[in-house]
Amino acid sequence: MARESIASRLAAQARARENAQTVRVRREVQARSGARVVFDGRPLLNFSSNDYLGLAQHPDLIRALCERSRVGVGSSASHMICGHHAAHAALERDMAEWLAPVIGRDTRALVFGSGYMANLAVVQSLLQTDDVCLQDKLNHASLIDAARLARIGLVRYPHADATAARRQAQAHGDGVLLVATDGVFSMDGDIAPLPELSALARAHEGLLYVDEAHAIGVLGPEGRGSAAAAGLIDAGCLLLVTLGKALGCYGAVLVGPGDVIEHIAQTARAYIYTTAMPPPLATAARAALKIAREETWRRRRLRELLGRFRDGARMRGIPLLPSHTPIQPLLVGDNETALLMAQQLEERGLLVAAIRPPSVPSGQARLRITLSSMHTDTQVDALLSALDELTPRVAREARLATA
Ligand SMILES: *Cc1c(COP(=O)(O)O)cnc(C)c1O
Repeated sequence: MARESIASRLAAQARARENAQTVRVRREVQARSGARVVFDGRPLLNFSSNDYLGLAQHPDLIRALCERSRVGVGSSASHMICGHHAAHAALERDMAEWLAPVIGRDTRALVFGSGYMANLAVVQSLLQTDDVCLQDKLNHASLIDAARLARIGLVRYPHADATAARRQAQAHGDGVLLVATDGVFSMDGDIAPLPELSALARAHEGLLYVDEAHAIGVLGPEGRGSAAAAGLIDAGCLLLVTLGKALGCYGAVLVGPGDVIEHIAQTARAYIYTTAMPPPLATAARAALKIAREETWRRRRLRELLGRFRDGARMRGIPLLPSHTPIQPLLVGDNETALLMAQQLEERGLLVAAIRPPSVPSGQARLRITLSSMHTDTQVDALLSALDELTPRVAREARLATA
């Protein structure tokens, strides 16, 4: 039997991507200042980044990173050998103290290299083959991958449908239950039904795991995230804080009950078999956390911009999805139109990402608009005018007819 050649397989799949218009192109950020970027040589106003609080270029973060870097960059080993530095320990203490109201007494934290790795760690460490990982259909790919790679029974409920989740938990009666959800959904911007999911996890003596990637710093008192905003107190849940979005750094921290955190530290392969993050980055993340907690004006400013953008869109009949977070998607449908609209926005000086399958369900390509506290009113108005010009008439008429 002739063996399939890897070269011909790759070529066939490359052709298939071209035909389906799903080829992704990496482009270069050559300079940036606040919401302004030079992207492949073109100055643009950025409505695509996850730097919701404008911290990625904050002088305090830069200073913290540089000062701590003077004594070394790399951590030199994994946490369990000799890579766990005082900077990591301090970041873990800060995070645990910050999120203790949500989780309860004996809250602890664990630093990871990235949110993707932390999600792999949680599922692999806490669940065994016969257990159930209940997940929202629209969860981030890293959570879905976590269950698949760990070969855990993955059960997905319809988006944000806690009633369906309850039914599915009952239907899969055996084994430990982990209910895992994005707090704010990354491509839709809406919020998970956390009180209901928390009650469900408790009723089954399981654990609620909330991926706070797009909520941390943005929602809740002191920016504690979606679980805090939903009023969860002493909930005994596990939270994922990613450092690369509103906190403007890179990496992630799991925060949860001490026994859960300890178990993950002892058993998660994605924690044990990897080098600890550079200590200067942990120090920068502490600086970011301090600003995110204290400077409430950044969240207030985001809310103002959000109101301005949504009001403006409603008046113009631009069909935004019903989101009340800085992620404001405009559903377009087919890939071609989404790409064309993104391109035309770019010609008007605006950077807005076209998101296509498999990042979103097929037929639901969209423009993923993100707002940041760095944006000015004028910039948001410029985006509204451009969208007004470009939004396909069909979508708009459908929207106005139902409004
Ligand atoms: C970005 C993101 C992650 C991954 O975090 P990284 O630190 O970028 O690896 C996980 N979950 C959600 C919901 C995300 O948006």
